[in-house]
Amino acid sequence: MKNPFSMPRPVPDGPWRWLVPVLLVLLFLLVLLWLPWQARQMESNERQEQLIADTLWVEQTLRFELARSEEVLATLGTDLAADSPPAHDVVEARMAQMFKNGHELRRIAWLDAGGRQLAVQGAELAHGALTASSRDAQEMARKTHNGRYSDPYSLGPARYGPDAGLVDYHLPLYHEGRFVGSLVATYDLQTLLDENVPWWFAQDNSLSLLDRDDHVVAHRAAGGPGRGVYTHKRALDLPGGQIVLATDSVKGAPRLLPNLLVGSVILLALGLVLSLAALWRHIARTIAAENALRQQMAFRTAMENSLLTGLRARDLEGRVTYVNPAFCRIVGLPAGELLGRTPPMPYWAPEETDEYEERFRKILAGQATPQFETVFLRPDGTRVPVLVFEAPLVDSIGRHTGWMSSILDITDRKRAEELARQQQEKLETSARLATMGEISSMLAHELNQPLAAISSYTAGALNVLGRASDHAAPLDAGMLKRALEQANTQARRAGQIIRSVHEFVKKREPRRESVMVPQVIEGIRALVELQARQSYVTLQVEVPPDLPPVLADRVLLEQVLLNLTRNAIESMQDIDRERRVLRIEAARIDTDDQGRVAVSVIDNGHGIPPEVAERLFSPFFSTKAEGMGMGLSICRTAIEFHGGTLTHADNPGGGTVFTFTLQQAQATMPT
Ligand code: ADP
Repeated sequence: MKNPFSMPRPVPDGPWRWLVPVLLVLLFLLVLLWLPWQARQMESNERQEQLIADTLWVEQTLRFELARSEEVLATLGTDLAADSPPAHDVVEARMAQMFKNGHELRRIAWLDAGGRQLAVQGAELAHGALTASSRDAQEMARKTHNGRYSDPYSLGPARYGPDAGLVDYHLPLYHEGRFVGSLVATYDLQTLLDENVPWWFAQDNSLSLLDRDDHVVAHRAAGGPGRGVYTHKRALDLPGGQIVLATDSVKGAPRLLPNLLVGSVILLALGLVLSLAALWRHIARTIAAENALRQQMAFRTAMENSLLTGLRARDLEGRVTYVNPAFCRIVGLPAGELLGRTPPMPYWAPEETDEYEERFRKILAGQATPQFETVFLRPDGTRVPVLVFEAPLVDSIGRHTGWMSSILDITDRKRAEELARQQQEKLETSARLATMGEISSMLAHELNQPLAAISSYTAGALNVLGRASDHAAPLDAGMLKRALEQANTQARRAGQIIRSVHEFVKKREPRRESVMVPQVIEGIRALVELQARQSYVTLQVEVPPDLPPVLADRVLLEQVLLNLTRNAIESMQDIDRERRVLRIEAARIDTDDQGRVAVSVIDNGHGIPPEVAERLFSPFFSTKAEGMGMGLSICRTAIEFHGGTLTHADNPGGGTVFTFTLQQAQATMPT
């Protein structure tokens, strides 16, 4: 059947479900990490390229400054090698002018072909004071007819400083192809750097000029030492001597964290990972909860499906909202035909419709009958007796949303009850028959007496009549009447005995009516006396005259009394004859406000030992050789059927007292 609480099938749980998202997240993280690295790399490259361009620019500036100086020297040289060279003071004045324009110049000297100093501006230059590299440069200049620089040199021990980092430029002078001398300009490389490199560049980079052996010959680092991260070297393109310009940026590698992009990317990545983890956990919990719920549902469904009790839920309008398989089995209809239905229901038996409708009216009014028995009709026409328990359906917040019924198929119970009832009836009948069998022999014996009496009375009467007709004697009418009266009395007594036995064994349905206890006792008196006389038992009856009538079935009551008196008589068989007294007493129970009457049968017999008392009322329990053991069992059933009790107690004077109680009949009821 359809379960309204059914859930979707679970998605198969496996590693593949997580693989794709995990890979994507990893890829995303990789890209996130790669991006800043790439940005850093680009920035780094950009800085390097910037440094190279700047270095190139500085190199050009230095080179330009030196070229400008070379040019002025060349002009001077040309004038000096001319046919009419300028006057000595003019030369010195021009040299002084050069000094003014180029602070990096330490000296300018004019040497003749023999190397003697003709004029000098700046520091003195003693002949032969030229360094070895300067002399090499002078030699090469002469040979090549072109100006030439020496390698940097130092005049003192310091590598750079005031007397260090000097470089000579030799310009050979020719007049008509003949070497006539040279101009020597000495440059201070430190000043060259200081004067020609713009401050902003020096602020960002440390600059050095290096000689052939990579020794620093001039150095400028206004913004502190270089970091060694962005460096570039470029040779100053000078004829002759080799000088390399080395730049080293004060900036280090781009730092990662201050970078906004990197920071935010890392934060975002962290946030993403955290939220993914949280999501993961949440999903895991949801899946776990779902699994638990599914298991619970499966368990509940299995439970409902295997229940033998039918379950039915209805809303407040009486519409069926749920039925379990057991209910469907009981009414023989599929759930589809029941769900959503309102009365009249397809399983209502036509003969019970009024009852169903009355109960349904009560349901709508909010008053369910908590428990009742009824009948459901199956489509094949069979009727199923059911026991229904009805309870309000209350939801989790305590709201009354409908009615829940559990329905028990009591067919088997009913059948068992019916069987038991039939069995009981049969037993009762056979017990009655057995009792009758027992008493029929006594009846035969006892009926002999009245019959014999009747026979002798009628014989006597016939005698009287015969003698009168023979005229032997006159008709004695008085005698005839007495004989016939006696015969009549005996015949009635015999009839009474037979009738009471007949009533006793006659099978009939119990019928409760208002009964006078003395009348019942009178009804069986002849029979009881018959048995009592045989056993030499005296019968005493004590009933108060104002005893109210009781509500009972007369014949059953007689049967109970007959059984109890018979047991009492039998219990006194072995005691002294003068003590054999059977008493029947009846009285209203004063302590009882329910209006009941107690009837006791009292004997002086052998009494009931405890082991017998335990099983006294069990069917077929008997201590007598001929006993059937049904008497007390039937008595108790009969009394309980009347709503009374049957108990026994020891008689203080020896023997037993059996007492049963009966409900008083209403005073208005017919007797
Ligand atoms: P039955 O008379 O056929 O034995 P009952 O059910 O009437 O069956 O009695 C069961 C047993 O209870 C008797 O066999 C007897 O032992 C005991 N009993 C019943 N009434 C008396 C009594 N008045 N005094 C002593 N014993 C009794």
